[in-house]
Amino acid sequence: MSTPPLDILALAAHRDDVEQTCGGTMLKMAQRGHRTGILDLTQGEMGTRGSAEDRAREAADAAKILCTSWRQALDIPDGRVENTWENRLKVARVIREQRPRVVILPYWKGRHPDHYTASVLGYEACFLSGLAKLGAGAAAGGSELPPHRPFKIVYATLYYDVRPTFVVDITEQFETRLQSLMAYKSQFSDQEAGKGIFPAEAEIRSRVEAMARFYGMLGGVTYAEPFLQKEVGLVEDLTVIPVKSI
Ligand SMILES: [Zn+2]
Repeated sequence: MSTPPLDILALAAHRDDVEQTCGGTMLKMAQRGHRTGILDLTQGEMGTRGSAEDRAREAADAAKILCTSWRQALDIPDGRVENTWENRLKVARVIREQRPRVVILPYWKGRHPDHYTASVLGYEACFLSGLAKLGAGAAAGGSELPPHRPFKIVYATLYYDVRPTFVVDITEQFETRLQSLMAYKSQFSDQEAGKGIFPAEAEIRSRVEAMARFYGMLGGVTYAEPFLQKEVGLVEDLTVIPVKSI
């Protein structure tokens, strides 16, 4: 194998989705010594602001700020993320190449169709990549790779109003995570293009802070990011469960 496996892979529809929904967690995991990676399904060619090339450069800058070991964007059309067999194979191939233990997916409901489709597409690709008889490498135009299925899948829920099952304390990572978002200068810096639909930089800061504060409050810390897992939690010792009840 050419590269060591990823401990955590975050998958999202658009460049900057990971920075917005779980960037602090990704940075925190990297700081704890885990190998982290980001898979963007699209390249952002439909964005009101900036070209796909601008966004590629910005995505690389943001990945560096978050201490990410690996980042790649697939060629799925922006605004048209569809859960097709071909797209599932493209993602399954990445899962087999990078062999993550944990995969972070977007939540399966949302306003933007690309977001909720990416969730189901990601889940089904994680399933497919574990099938021994599936030749994901060959089918996606590459050499054969051994099957791999992540141990854990969690969903980043920040884009949707749903109660998370857990939050990750990002108090120490908050400022750097905000910088990773601001690395998308073509999207977030104050400018004329798309002025009516994009909030000003100061407003973005306040919004990001308000959300992080809200989820932080749920976990009894200053800033946090929300996640949902489908499985129940497993407890060994009742006396060390975090988050105060009363
Ligand atoms: Zn998005």
